[in-house]
Amino acid sequence: MARVPHTEKSSVAARLRQWPLWSTSSGMVGFVLSVHAVALALGVRAILTSQIDSTSVVWFVALLGLAILFEEGTLRVEKFRIKIRATRHTDMTSVWTFAAAIVLAPSLTLPLVVLIQVHTWYRYVKARGGIPYRTAFTGASIWIACVAARSVMDLFGARGALPMGVGAVIAVVCAMVVYSLMNTGLIYTAVCIGSRPASPPPFLTMWQDNLLELATLCLAALTALALLFEPWMTVLVIPAMVIMQRSVLSKELQEAATMDAKTGLLNALAWQQAAIAELERSARNDKQAAMLIIDMDNFKLINDTYGHLVGDSVLKAVADVLTDELRGYDVIGRFGGEEFVALLADVSPLQALDISDRILQRVRDLRVPTRDPDKPMVTGMSASIGMSGYPQQASQVDDLLHIADAALYTAKREGRDRVEYSYIGGGR
Ligand code: GH3
Ligand code: MG
Ligand code: MG
Repeated sequence: MARVPHTEKSSVAARLRQWPLWSTSSGMVGFVLSVHAVALALGVRAILTSQIDSTSVVWFVALLGLAILFEEGTLRVEKFRIKIRATRHTDMTSVWTFAAAIVLAPSLTLPLVVLIQVHTWYRYVKARGGIPYRTAFTGASIWIACVAARSVMDLFGARGALPMGVGAVIAVVCAMVVYSLMNTGLIYTAVCIGSRPASPPPFLTMWQDNLLELATLCLAALTALALLFEPWMTVLVIPAMVIMQRSVLSKELQEAATMDAKTGLLNALAWQQAAIAELERSARNDKQAAMLIIDMDNFKLINDTYGHLVGDSVLKAVADVLTDELRGYDVIGRFGGEEFVALLADVSPLQALDISDRILQRVRDLRVPTRDPDKPMVTGMSASIGMSGYPQQASQVDDLLHIADAALYTAKREGRDRVEYSYIGGGR
């Protein structure tokens, strides 16, 4: 964040002017302010219609205490999760906020959401260079989601208590769906506005990313149940949360160790291992395979013209082309720089050449938006592909790579934007 100059240190106006929110697009500013306006209106309504009894205050204190206890106890793990995760980080605070939405009056849910966000901000988001308006926006989204979930519960006539029998499950599941849709929907919209003009992640991917959120919401419902019937039982939620957090961490560690963060493809080491396994499978099943090295043409020029960030978007777009054009069991990786590698299982050289031609055409057709109004789109890109075939040319991954690399060199020398396969009997 930009520093406030000495002379203006005490000026609130100067500090306000320096908020990073103002340097985002006008669409983002408008959206964030609208969400805050709705959150504020809902907050005022909650306070004006507030009915608080002493039992709810006990529940409020219990939820806040457990939230702080859990966050303090798992601070190191959570900081580590943030460090290794390339994409959006999903925390587990919904266990407290959704439980609050079920059992507390909104006028108590509001301070709970605010205090949890403030605690989260000071304990780990601020230190990793987090941006205040984003944490505030997350808090506003959670609060709106809580109000929406509460309204669903009220529709089932559950004001202050759960309906009985199967009605309780139906009410809570409906509230859960509304809470998630509201929370994820608001954050997804902000991500879409923020990533414009680059393409945003598909909603479904983000949704799947939230399986942890689903488990957290189920635990939240059980926490609410414990509060209603035996508040002391809520302490049992803590060990369940710790175990859930550990299992998520191990999955995230595995992802971080194998994935190239920029493109989402396998990184070089993971690709090598997967390719060796795939080639062994081809050998066992007596199938052919093809190795492709795909290198962007004159990529340095793209970086020089549009900047490295746009260059990165181009790399992601090319990775998406490869994922889209190849099959699920082809092994695709980023080798480094603007070089990709793919082992295509169970294809003849002729089929692999066809696939390569399709990839080249897709790269030629690529249009990657930039943020520069003078040159809003990167177009006219091309790639060169070096190819080698198994078992015609070699039987080991390293040897196939060497031959494909030599073919790539030839493709570059002969004018780029082409695929090269040097095996005489290959039939090109
Ligand atoms: P050629 O057609 O011969 O392959 O030319 P080229 O410019 O693509 O090849 P060269 O290897 O000379 O340049 C590759 C460029 O890729 C240089 C480097 O700045 C850029 N690059 C490498 N990694 C990244 C990255 O992660 N992001 C971005 N934006 N650029 C990268
Ligand atoms: Mg290149
Ligand atoms: Mg290169």
